[in-house]
Amino acid sequence: MSETMACSLLSCGYEDDRVFEMDDYAGAIARWCPGCGDHAILAGVERLLAAEQLKPERTMFVSGIGCSSRFPHYLTTYGFHGIHGRALPLATGIKLVRPDLDVFVVMGDGDCCSIGAGHWIHAIRYNVNMVALLLDNNIYGLTKNQTSPTSALGRKTNTHPRGALLQPVNPVQTTLGVANVSFVARTVDWNPPHLFATLQAAHRHQGLSFVQILQRCPHYKAGVHDPLQSDPSQLLLMTHPEGIQLEDSIQKIFKNQQEHDPSDMDTARELAGGEGAIAIGLFYRDQLLDRYDQYTAAGIATSRDEKIAALNAELSSYQI
Ligand code: SF4
Repeated sequence: MSETMACSLLSCGYEDDRVFEMDDYAGAIARWCPGCGDHAILAGVERLLAAEQLKPERTMFVSGIGCSSRFPHYLTTYGFHGIHGRALPLATGIKLVRPDLDVFVVMGDGDCCSIGAGHWIHAIRYNVNMVALLLDNNIYGLTKNQTSPTSALGRKTNTHPRGALLQPVNPVQTTLGVANVSFVARTVDWNPPHLFATLQAAHRHQGLSFVQILQRCPHYKAGVHDPLQSDPSQLLLMTHPEGIQLEDSIQKIFKNQQEHDPSDMDTARELAGGEGAIAIGLFYRDQLLDRYDQYTAAGIATSRDEKIAALNAELSSYQI
């Protein structure tokens, strides 16, 4: 915490002259395995919080269950470590009653794409203004190496020792197929500049920002992402003035690049499902779509007073 902030807290409470450094957002010591990609993502998120100067008392991280869902414990913001698959509805409720908060949702691939899949689809459609991060390691790590919805075909796990039997879900392609989708991006945990730039673009978007982060799990999937790390040409960097912005020195390490206008849904879907190099960057963005939080904030038939009046009327009907 900076001296300015400490002074403010001790003498006169929260004041807007506080200046936050990355360390000011650090919570408990992270217990993820050494080399786990979640450490890099946590660092990227702390960098984002400091860059955007988000106030810890007005920032909320909501998670479900899984290795990545320990995220809220490792930050000094508010947090809600929820139940499996329910991070998105919890976060939606929080944002609807507290639209002044910056709300982030952290999910694993099992959490989001399996037990939470129904909530995932409807959260995209509701387009509430918050950031949803899918930390995708393609495995259930917390329950010790079980097949997840994004595990590759043939991947040997404890639940499928002879190899996963079904084609995996493609989270980006699926999200792009949902009505009212407004922001979809993909990044990787091992490229901090691209990770940060993607997180920043997601936070600045007005609507539900969905970001898939390819995440290393060295404990159960050692080496799976090594080819992508050692040979960036296996990634396809999507570029565009309206997309994710990188410095030239970072951008030039990607030999495969393609300009992609993020307002072009058809090409976004092609890139998301394409064979070969894995596309990273911003697939799609539309800031003009309906947001459910705007309707509830306006109180259209759902204001607090209307709900209380309706409840009282219902209870009165039982009076003897
Ligand atoms: Fe990270 Fe995998 Fe360890 Fe879980 S099991 S903490 S995902 S390395």
